[in-house]
Amino acid sequence: MSFLSTRGGHAVTASQAILRGIAPDGGLYVPAMFPIVETGKLAELAEMSYEKRAVEILKLFLEDFSIPEIEEAVRAAYRSDKFDHPAIAPIHRLDEATWALELFHGPTLAFKDMALQLLPHLMHLSARKNREDREICILVATSGDTGKAALEGFRDVEGTSCAVFYPLDGVSDVQKLQMVTTGGSNTKVIAVRGNFDDAQTGVKKLFGSEDFIQKMADQGKVLSSANSINLGRLVPQVVYYFSAYADLVHAGAVTVGQPVNFCVPTGNFGNILAGYYARCMGLPVGRLICASNRNNVLTDFFNSGIYTTHRTFFKTMSPSMDILVSSNLERLLYEAADRDGALIRTWMNQLSVSGSYSVGEQRRDWLAGMFWGDCADNKDTAAEISRRFHDGYLMDPHTAVGSHVLRQYRIRFNDNTPTVLVSTASPFKFAQDVLCAVTGEREEDPFRASEGISNLIHIDIPQQVRALKDLPIRHTAVCDPDTMGEAVLG
Ligand SMILES: *Cc1c(COP(=O)(O)O)cnc(C)c1O
Repeated sequence: MSFLSTRGGHAVTASQAILRGIAPDGGLYVPAMFPIVETGKLAELAEMSYEKRAVEILKLFLEDFSIPEIEEAVRAAYRSDKFDHPAIAPIHRLDEATWALELFHGPTLAFKDMALQLLPHLMHLSARKNREDREICILVATSGDTGKAALEGFRDVEGTSCAVFYPLDGVSDVQKLQMVTTGGSNTKVIAVRGNFDDAQTGVKKLFGSEDFIQKMADQGKVLSSANSINLGRLVPQVVYYFSAYADLVHAGAVTVGQPVNFCVPTGNFGNILAGYYARCMGLPVGRLICASNRNNVLTDFFNSGIYTTHRTFFKTMSPSMDILVSSNLERLLYEAADRDGALIRTWMNQLSVSGSYSVGEQRRDWLAGMFWGDCADNKDTAAEISRRFHDGYLMDPHTAVGSHVLRQYRIRFNDNTPTVLVSTASPFKFAQDVLCAVTGEREEDPFRASEGISNLIHIDIPQQVRALKDLPIRHTAVCDPDTMGEAVLG
């Protein structure tokens, strides 16, 4: 299996794609073809553990990795001291036809751990395979959750370092505390005066700056990415779509081959794209429901076929989805454009020059056959948290955006296909907003709010949150979007 750039560049191996993060022409790496998982295999997956399922899916993409290498990486990533649930990514029945796929049982309490616990192992192997002996410096832009998950994954991993940029006033209190208290001798956390898009654009610019790359090389370092543009993030995410389906089969909720819808709270389009890839590989996926918060650029895109960033950026109670430029959409566009790299280059050029592009009506209709986009504002989100709580399940604001959108979708289309609601974070990570949604009272202290939640659902405050209270603040650097390079080099 080789990997191509969405902008037409030449093919590379899986390990090269992982090592580079982004293609030299600015495109994202995509598989040259989609490996097919036959129905018989789906039935077999139903009887396997998460780790075994992961090996089965990963090996289809990572052809220049040996099976024992993949097995060892998977074992190390999903160890029981990292994930607090034996099923790793359990499904939880919410009602007649809806299951929550809980992806927040890892060390940082958000779905990013599913891929970022594995990526450092894949990165290390990729460096060895390509005889790369310089230090690999991982640059990350985060809307809140990727940052800590990358820091946890790469902390003290030999031969790597990790620098994270987060929007100064754009993350939750717990998210920020998680990042700025990170230990490890190879980590750097820097606040950017700007929003997530400023941070993400800044990081992309560094990847394209010959001057910066040379200065890093002078220090014996080579750049890579842990953002969801990295193929090594995407492939592990494909696994849990198969796993959720396998669990539904195992539970007797669906028979092999029966379609299942997935509803995904979306920001950078990485998570839901993995669901689309699973569909391309033969997983019986009906609709992929793309749920946005008030930054509903994707809702408008799926409706109109026009992507436009000429809009106000809102801060919401689901900060990890406060994004206007969804990087991974480029991989879907590539399929919509019949893999025409020149056309992708044109659209991406229009986006960076004029802030918008249009895919045309025909391609929009093709996309609408698989995707449905809708959004929820803060009020909808809070109401949904409260509603689900009274039905017996407490969800975080990101998951609640998905839950609201799913409810709207069902009313509109009367589609009662079994549906998996992808649950992306623990409610403890957004304690103040979640507590307020349920009780109507605002508690500003995140630790006291966590106690409130703990009392509501009779679950202990996760140790990862409790420990934050006493950890020293280790990172205080702040920079502007145009001085991010200096901040890394300094
Ligand atoms: C990152 C994140 C999202 C958005 O995922 P994308 O892959 O960027 O679309 C949703 N919810 C939570 C909690 C997240 O951390």
